Amino acid sequence: MADDSTASLGVCKLWVDGAACDAADGETFDTMRPDTGEVLTALPRARAADVDRAVRSARLAFDEGEWPRLPASQRERILWRVGDLIEANVEKLARIESIDAGKPIKNTARADIPLSADTFRYFAGWATKLQGDTIPVRTPHLNYTLREPVGVVAAITPWNFPLLLAARKVAAALAAGNTVVLKPAEQASLTSLELGRLVSEAGAPPGTLNVLCGLGPEAGAALVEHPGVDKIAFTGGSDTGRRIAAASAPSLKKLALELGGKCANVVFADADLDAAIGGAVRAAYYNSGQVCTAGCRLLVQQDVHQRVVEGVAAGAAKLVVGDPLERATELGPLISAEQQRRVEGYIERGAAEGARRVTGSAGAAGGGGYFVQPTVFDKVTPEMTIAREEIFGPVLAVIPFRDVEEAARIADATDYGLAAGIWTRDIGRAHALAARLRCGTVWVNSYNLFDSPSPYGGMKQSGFGRENGAEVMHEMTQVKSVWVALS
Ligand code: ADP
Repeated sequence: MADDSTASLGVCKLWVDGAACDAADGETFDTMRPDTGEVLTALPRARAADVDRAVRSARLAFDEGEWPRLPASQRERILWRVGDLIEANVEKLARIESIDAGKPIKNTARADIPLSADTFRYFAGWATKLQGDTIPVRTPHLNYTLREPVGVVAAITPWNFPLLLAARKVAAALAAGNTVVLKPAEQASLTSLELGRLVSEAGAPPGTLNVLCGLGPEAGAALVEHPGVDKIAFTGGSDTGRRIAAASAPSLKKLALELGGKCANVVFADADLDAAIGGAVRAAYYNSGQVCTAGCRLLVQQDVHQRVVEGVAAGAAKLVVGDPLERATELGPLISAEQQRRVEGYIERGAAEGARRVTGSAGAAGGGGYFVQPTVFDKVTPEMTIAREEIFGPVLAVIPFRDVEEAARIADATDYGLAAGIWTRDIGRAHALAARLRCGTVWVNSYNLFDSPSPYGGMKQSGFGRENGAEVMHEMTQVKSVWVALS
């Protein structure tokens, strides 16, 4: 196995005001290795005093510092340089992400880290494209709008795509001239701490991006309540999202919540079934199912039900589960012992409620690691727990349907509204169903596609606000209307 000494794990400290530091009280918490269940390293445990220091730094950088006042083209150049630095460190960052979050190196080296670099470059371009309008008002006045940054943005991120989701929030916020305090998930903070260092190295003044590792109910909660924060951009669980909405209400912070999902992937009998089966396997199991948009409910038209179940079961059984640092590994462990127990609980529940387990053996690869084998359940009904609750693990529930009406009803019969997939050769049906489903993204004859220019976010209990594209730039800015008398 490759060297995994602490020195190769990056900064491993809080990044505040352009420098690495410990928590004010010197406390630490342990972060674990998901593939072995052993302690990876101890990290500073940020609490209210550290949050206060980081927010003050970001506040000063915004209220009096250079960042929002730089010519936009200079912000663009610095953000582009962040992309270059991430790219120059792909191997190191991919390895850190794989060890820290248990993600296969194949994915971190080819997707997570290069896409994080790409995200900074995409948003670098937005810095120079933000502008207001002139408005033809009825009175003899010139009326125009200025598009201004919102101020200090708190970015709170989850552990499933640590650097990539941090990059999406941080790059968009910084491009608009905001300053940022980033609080990554306690389970996988390391690449975000490195990001703090790289943003400074790229030339951003101290305080532009501060990064705090710590526990959600401590560092996260203190950040949400801090009066110096203007906006919160959050990705994580729906319950945490509700807590954040309530805690931030007294200070009326602007809020974007990207929450959970229970996405339907709908296969019609007329689809290219080989493509649909391959797509369904990737949709359900990519990142061991730890994806908000995982296609965890596979709705299959009755006539092809048998063939599709056999296909996805064979595909699931073939997936290589194991050491995240091995190039051949397709599925790593889950993030934590807690998640492993939760997911195993759902697997027991599925069987107890009468679903038929087609594949997926109990236990799995690798000693003390948090592994769960990819599991397929057939004969699932929409009322069963595994069809309703977000599992966030490699568990697929196959639900048969008769016609498009029933498919639409089952697909929308969830509190969530994040994304859906549709597999059919009937283009009219694809468009009609895409328009009808109540969710933020629909993929037709494809699944889990994302790109920085395309807006991403949820409806219903999957949250509100959008990331990426022009949509997020609207959310990272606010509009001022200026009236000038012409006489
Ligand atoms: P999960 O994706 O495991 O459901 P959470 O929603 O708990 O995760 O966590 C997502 C992010 O929210 C993490 O960075 C976590 O530390 C943070 N967090 C958890 N609880 C709170 C809270 N009460 N206030 C602010 N942030 C929180």
